[in-house]
Amino acid sequence: MAISHPIVAEIARGVYCINEFGMDSLFLIVGDSRALLIDTGTATFDLPALIGCLTPLPVDVALTHGHMDHAGGMGWFHRVHLHPADFHLARSITLTMRRDYTRLIRRIAGGFFDVDALNVRDFPRQPELLPLGEGDCFDLGGVHVDVYETPGHTPGGLSYLVREQRLLITGDACNPNTLLFPFLPDGRRAPHASAEGLMATARKLQRLSSLADRIYNGHTGFAADISFLPIPAELPREIEGLCRQLIDGTAQWQEGGQMGLNTSVWAPHGRICFDPQHYLEGQ
Ligand SMILES: [Zn+2]
Repeated sequence: MAISHPIVAEIARGVYCINEFGMDSLFLIVGDSRALLIDTGTATFDLPALIGCLTPLPVDVALTHGHMDHAGGMGWFHRVHLHPADFHLARSITLTMRRDYTRLIRRIAGGFFDVDALNVRDFPRQPELLPLGEGDCFDLGGVHVDVYETPGHTPGGLSYLVREQRLLITGDACNPNTLLFPFLPDGRRAPHASAEGLMATARKLQRLSSLADRIYNGHTGFAADISFLPIPAELPREIEGLCRQLIDGTAQWQEGGQMGLNTSVWAPHGRICFDPQHYLEGQ
């Protein structure tokens, strides 16, 4: 029997991880006076109704980055916080892109989820996008969420530290499958989307890990995996090492990647997928 609802897990007191049919993971952090939703998914289900089941408090909305599986549901809301470098990316998302992604992950999950791409919500308008960056903080009443810039996967990648709960939420900045897209949808070079940019972010995540007990990415349970586990603690150090090898020319490239990136380099707990023509800044 296929699963027909998104799966919700409380990963710390008042912190919920919402698995959208194996496509992405959203996080809801509930304080004493407000709540913060991090990422909006692809819009395959009624996200505001689900949030209403978890908290009656007013909810702020912030995104880790502008990709369709994280920003695709932003049309549910009037105001959404995001790094300005990803505004264009978020505004370029189409209904067709979100439906194609839903079909792709449904196929990869092998029928594990009963999710219909035709049910992906279309939105008549875009929300107002509000700029967010390094040093910003959401005070939810007894719970603080600090914002850090972690570009590489996208130019405007953001990570969020839930200070009191010691959780770091990183979107796709450092995944077991880290995708390094060199260009924006309009064909311009994506700044910091390079081995150099990703290496700086991997170093930063290692520094931030002293403030967190667990690091969660934007795909805690990919496809039919519903583990809700944080990323391996070694991963940021391994991704930094892979970036260094790419920069100094010692990396062992392999054929095969994802989402149009056909080359990868591997570490024990993950890989980087990249475009061999454009993995260094300025190429
Ligand atoms: Zn992404």
